Amino acid sequence: MQPATLVWYRRDLRVLDHEALTHACAQGTPVFALYVDETNPSHGRAMGGATRWWLHHSLDALRSDLSKLNIKLILKRGATAEMVGQTATEVGATTVHAMAVHEPAEAEQVVRVEERLRRDGRTLAIAGGNLLHPPGTIRNKQGGGYKVFTPYWKFWRTFNPSAPLPVPSPVAVSSTECASDNLDAWHLLPSKPDWASGLRETWRPGADGARDLLNTFIQGTLGDYQDARDYPAETGTTRLSAHLHFGEISPRQVWHAVRDAAARETDMKIENDSWSIIRQLCWRDFNHDLLSRHPDMATRNIDTRFDAFPWQSEPDALRRWQKGETGYPIVDAGMRELWTTGWMHNRVRMIVASFLVKHLLIHWRAGEEWFWDTLVDADVANNTANWQWVAGCGADAAPYFRIFNPILQGEKFDPNGDYVRKWVPERADLSNKLIHKPTPADAGLFEENYPTAMVEHGFARKRALDAFASLKR
Ligand SMILES: Cc1cc2nc3c(=O)[nH]c(=O)nc-3n(C[C@H](O)[C@H](O)[C@H](O)COP(=O)(O)OP(=O)(O)OC[C@H]3O[C@@H](n4cnc5c(N)ncnc54)[C@H](O)[C@@H]3O)c2cc1C
Repeated sequence: MQPATLVWYRRDLRVLDHEALTHACAQGTPVFALYVDETNPSHGRAMGGATRWWLHHSLDALRSDLSKLNIKLILKRGATAEMVGQTATEVGATTVHAMAVHEPAEAEQVVRVEERLRRDGRTLAIAGGNLLHPPGTIRNKQGGGYKVFTPYWKFWRTFNPSAPLPVPSPVAVSSTECASDNLDAWHLLPSKPDWASGLRETWRPGADGARDLLNTFIQGTLGDYQDARDYPAETGTTRLSAHLHFGEISPRQVWHAVRDAAARETDMKIENDSWSIIRQLCWRDFNHDLLSRHPDMATRNIDTRFDAFPWQSEPDALRRWQKGETGYPIVDAGMRELWTTGWMHNRVRMIVASFLVKHLLIHWRAGEEWFWDTLVDADVANNTANWQWVAGCGADAAPYFRIFNPILQGEKFDPNGDYVRKWVPERADLSNKLIHKPTPADAGLFEENYPTAMVEHGFARKRALDAFASLKR
């Protein structure tokens, strides 16, 4: 059998700046690529609906990019270690190359894959990854992990990442046949009902879509990032989160593109804006560092004092929040944006999350699970760290007693009401002065079809503070 090399793809669905692919292509043999889907993973967590939709299109795009390099993408469904082992045998690869995925469940998976390959005398070579500085590389003076973001960031930013790797040259064509599943047969796309029309209109999964978003950001938005990033009606951020999650673009590509753009300008503002966006990339690394030190943070409070918090079980209230029917316009706009597009602006994510855990006293895990299913960028480290941060039980969290007022947040960050008018058309005719004000439950309806506020802000605030105080008793 003709010898070949195998690249096992996971959260690195690209050909540019890909260490494992670069090593594989340097072997001088034909190269195969493999993606394994475990419907009911023995490790980690099954993907949500929105990420499954994204994965389908991302694999399609990757298949096309790899075929230009004479590399066939093989799709297999089943237990990962077994599928990697079998495919390595089928294509005649003695070494399997893969990029690191810095999640505890993925690390356990790697051990199983290594064991399976070893049985057949084959090896797994891991290189690179999807973070700028992986867990364990940024350490405090005592050699431990940082609990607080700001000192982590100050140290983190002193390291410059190396330049991205180019796309490898095409490899020799292989004469070996290797069976692959049909992507459509995986049924990653919703059909009955097909709820993905808003996702199709909004996103172009794959490396080309990521590159276009990055270019648009550099050419148009970068110089305004710090001013615009908190205003959900504006396109003030990169919208790269799902592309980064699936590894269609590397954070190193973003880092260099942004710093190169700043270096071309003499304007100090762009210099500061470039560090402001890079700071967001640092949050990704920080959250993954946290996950490596708190492997169960998707289900357990980092601050265990919150284990005694008197959360309420309110299925009807949770459902109203999920559907965007709370009666608080900025909250409802965010939840409807999420349902329609699979994405929500960061400022609004903070507002809706705060509303769930503080105004409704519903456990952050219920919100995290809804986001997990509906976000195209749903990510264990980033989702759980941010939910815990908002809930007050995370590392370096927003203090619980700081309770967002959703009316003031709306008035401040959506001053002309454009965001609310787009997603809550029932309110479109209201003046800017009224658009963020909920209708009190006892006022009688002044709008048809829009719900009254499900809880009064002052009451909810006091109830949340009382619940928090109960932790100290
Ligand atoms: C409750 C809650 C849940 C969240 N869940 C997720 C999630 O599952 N996946 C996810 O990628 N982000 C999550 N975030 C973080 C943030 O909201 C998104 O990363 C951001 O809105 C994506 O938009 P963007 O790409 O335009 O961001 P930009 O402002 O352009 O930032 C660039 C990149 O930096 C990273 N980033 C930005 N903010 C954060 C942050 N606070 N934490 C970690 N990384 C960040 C993202 O990869 C993002 O693409 C969550 C935030 C909150 C408050």
